[in-house]
Amino acid sequence: MALDRKTPNDLNAFWMPFTANRQFKKAPRMFVGAKDMHYTTADGRQVLDGTAGLWCCNAGHCRPKISEAIAKQAAELDYAPAFQMGHPAAFELANRIIDIAPKGMEHVFYTNSGSESVETALKLAIAYHRARGEGARTRLIGRERGYHGVNFGGISVGGIVTNRKMFGSLLTGVDHMPHTHLPALNAFSKGQPEHGANLADELERIVTLHGAETIAAVIVEPMAGSTGVLLPPKGYLQKLREITKKHGILLIFDEVITGFGRLGSAFAVQHYDVLPDMMTTAKGLTNGVIPMGAVLTTAAVHDAFMQGPEHMIELFHGYTYSGNPIAAAAGIATLETYKEEGLFERCAELAPYWQEALHSLRGTRHVIDIRNEGLIGAVELEPIAGEPTKRAFTAFLKAYEKGILIRTTGDIIAMSPPLIISKAQIDELIGTLKSVLETLD
Ligand code: PMP
Repeated sequence: MALDRKTPNDLNAFWMPFTANRQFKKAPRMFVGAKDMHYTTADGRQVLDGTAGLWCCNAGHCRPKISEAIAKQAAELDYAPAFQMGHPAAFELANRIIDIAPKGMEHVFYTNSGSESVETALKLAIAYHRARGEGARTRLIGRERGYHGVNFGGISVGGIVTNRKMFGSLLTGVDHMPHTHLPALNAFSKGQPEHGANLADELERIVTLHGAETIAAVIVEPMAGSTGVLLPPKGYLQKLREITKKHGILLIFDEVITGFGRLGSAFAVQHYDVLPDMMTTAKGLTNGVIPMGAVLTTAAVHDAFMQGPEHMIELFHGYTYSGNPIAAAAGIATLETYKEEGLFERCAELAPYWQEALHSLRGTRHVIDIRNEGLIGAVELEPIAGEPTKRAFTAFLKAYEKGILIRTTGDIIAMSPPLIISKAQIDELIGTLKSVLETLD
């Protein structure tokens, strides 16, 4: 669809998220179409999608099976309330999610985004302890450089300063563990880095400070995506699991990026073989096509409510669009696509090729670190003194001109292509990025 108004002011009404609006509107970059691995720009160019949209279109773009399922559901049952009422697609999708989830995850609570999944999991954690008679457990623990969406709970436990500082004092009773990014020890690691598991011991310090009986949950991304693909050091997640278990603290893995195949298994939980108490998901659940998220919980979390006090049997939480029929239909068609095309396995098979391609950029101008796992990777650039973010953002603009879509955060370039990418397209992505980096000041 084209924008049918022609004056510059026509770009004013839409207040764009996470965008320097004034700059964007001077030189807008518009996509008008997409198919499989490519976007089509308003001026008719093809751009290779190196990011799966925003880490979400894992099966590539405009997949007929998903579009057709949406159209069919929209014609059959467009909307049904989720409160005290149900419809088959939401139950069907929940079962299918549990079928591919790690053993031990048994229940699904629907949301409409990653941010809502995070808020839901944090609220569930606090209510879980209350249902079990431990109402003093209200403290939440996140991590520096964690990203958990943009709602108040998420930015409170999240550890990105720019994401927090416009918005006041946020939730009280929140602590942050240190992040696990240790460039001096781990630069250019392939896959999980060797050093840093002991950073999980910081959790013991926080527990000692406040007392375990005040702490509800710890939330981390098993692999931090939005702050630049920060991988868990070997043994780190296992240690977090041991410490949380010992103290009766719930462990939440935020799998909004890592869920649905990105690391070569359905979830990071299976890839790293550590089972948390809850998982937050969104994005790849519907291939990014329709907003939908889901929180997965163990039986123990769910059953605390089922067996808890009478007034807590009904969980007082939910959204108008929880389990929306059209979103659920999109989710079912998406999970079928992943399965029929073996995309999680394909990701695992391509991962070594991706790793070598990415690491071939070592030695290219400005590159000070490279990180990878599954079909995700980051190339960190030396920042220009006094102008952090400028070099990577310039790379993003030049890359777009040369026909590839990458993402930047600070001076880190992140890539997470759809899992349907071919080896030739990996070469094109990395080769184009190399040529861009070589022209940067
Ligand atoms: N958690 C994580 C780990 C994420 O990466 C994101 C989005 N990038 C979110 C939560 C928030 O998701 P949404 O933008 O759908 O609210």
